Amino acid sequence: MHKVDSEKMFVTFWGTRGSISTPGSGTEKYGGNTSCVSIHHGETELILDAGTGIRNLGLELFQQMEKGRTELNMHLLLSHTHWDHIQGLPFFVPAYLKGNKLAIYGSPKKEVFLESILQRQMDVNYFPVEMNALAADISIKEISAEKLVIDSITIDWQEQVFHPGGSVRYRFSAAGKTIVYATDVELDKLFNSKIKSEENDVLKNEYCQFIRGADLLIADGQYTEEEYPSKIGFGHTSIPLIIEIAHKQKVKQLAIFHHEPQHPDSLLDKLWAKYSPKYASSQNQMIVFWAREGMTIPV
Ligand SMILES: [Zn+2]
Ligand SMILES: [Zn+2]
Repeated sequence: MHKVDSEKMFVTFWGTRGSISTPGSGTEKYGGNTSCVSIHHGETELILDAGTGIRNLGLELFQQMEKGRTELNMHLLLSHTHWDHIQGLPFFVPAYLKGNKLAIYGSPKKEVFLESILQRQMDVNYFPVEMNALAADISIKEISAEKLVIDSITIDWQEQVFHPGGSVRYRFSAAGKTIVYATDVELDKLFNSKIKSEENDVLKNEYCQFIRGADLLIADGQYTEEEYPSKIGFGHTSIPLIIEIAHKQKVKQLAIFHHEPQHPDSLLDKLWAKYSPKYASSQNQMIVFWAREGMTIPV
């Protein structure tokens, strides 16, 4: 476990891949597991999404328990319930252990209640173990309050409309620092739309305000500029666009996230080399990096 530093939040990437897990020699560096990020602050354990990456987080937490860490009090915030964001949950060991607490949060704007979506993924036709085998104290909440406060962390959230079925973005504030998690959104549809509408202007403004000045923005950057035109409507953002928006909004560090399954390490390295230097040396310096599985950064 990290030495507790109440001033800092520690962000760890457990899964950075979009859409489907992609194991293999071509993805060893940036990782093949799907979306899962943890934020550790003092004794508080926040988990963002439960893609396949949550399995390794669970094993790490289990090891800490074996070394004497007492029962865990965990908070899982789901951006949405597409497979690549929930598929690891049935493999999350701490959820099977009595005494642990797991609160799961998600969008209130669903036709089907969040609890039944998660239950159905563990239906016997899809998975051999039913959800009631999860012996931890599990509560499933659809967020209703404008803000959530979990221990020392304040959490703002907003619905993102430009993703099939929608998704939620979150902003975490503690000790004067902010982290934004805003994956699975097609910003090209909003920012590069040829149709001018008041509604779009409001949504653009909301997005810009939400990320403004963030110490770390974890953002959807699935497609290259060249790929995007053949992926319109899939719900993901092109890389140069998110970099440009983040820079305008004075984001300090930008983690490109939700990597396209077809992008090997060699391509992600090339993209980093192409975009990163310009922003590192610009007037409003911004660090741009490609999120890598296993990486921890203090914020
Ligand atoms: Zn996704
Ligand atoms: Zn999605």
